[in-house]
Amino acid sequence: ESEALAALIAKRVLDVSDFPQAGVVFKDLSPLFADGSAFRTVIDGIVDHYGRDGFDVVAGIEARGFVIAAAVAYAVGVGVVPVRKAGKLPRQVVSASYELEYGQAVLEVHADAFVAGQRVLVVDDVLATGGTAEATLGLVERAGGDVIGFTVLLELAFLEGRKRLAGRPVHALLAV
Ligand code: AMP
Repeated sequence: ESEALAALIAKRVLDVSDFPQAGVVFKDLSPLFADGSAFRTVIDGIVDHYGRDGFDVVAGIEARGFVIAAAVAYAVGVGVVPVRKAGKLPRQVVSASYELEYGQAVLEVHADAFVAGQRVLVVDDVLATGGTAEATLGLVERAGGDVIGFTVLLELAFLEGRKRLAGRPVHALLAV
């Protein structure tokens, strides 16, 4: 079952060398998103992992996380909260800056995005160094949410993002 999900993803990811910069192998999951049957199976796999009553809201990380978050949320009838890059959200935000391979980035979520104690499932497409996830999980908590899980379609295990997220409930459908 979980091996079948992993294989479904493995067959629908394209490795793009030197994107967005030299030395990076970008994992392009567009073929998975474009395959309706595979996409639905993967979304259902995420729902099954947590259970239909396992979370109250789904937070997606801009931009590919939005695609996954919306589908998971729709499948169980809960809402979606966008975690966005700096300057995109119109009202009061909580923000976190974090290190990229080079330089820094800032992520934000609306300060009133969560009801206190709401169980939040955070989703993204790829876990690499874990900086994005670490920043996001902290943001969700500062905004009052209770992080019950962080799930990705693909984990780049050699970058040891899981180590950085030690103690966090990380779930990857495929690890390479
Ligand atoms: P990181 O903060 O290093 O874990 O990077 C995770 C974020 O950057 C996710 O939002 C991914 O979509 C994106 N990302 C990082 N590295 C890659 C990669 N090699 N291929 C595809 N997306 C990546």
